[in-house]
Amino acid sequence: MKEKRTLCKLEEAGFIKDSLDDYIKLVRKGKFVCRRCGRVARKKRNLCKPMKMGA
Ligand SMILES: [Zn+2]
Repeated sequence: MKEKRTLCKLEEAGFIKDSLDDYIKLVRKGKFVCRRCGRVARKKRNLCKPMKMGA
């Protein structure tokens, strides 16, 4: 996966419907939340406005 593609963009491109298994790998044990759209991801680079979640 290209690093520049955030989950936010990926969903708009239909990635979740097409590649749900890959999507789950990105969001499992998420540590960051996107302040713009509320998505969660394990890696900061996959979100457009990442913020580390507490605890
Ligand atoms: Zn976002």
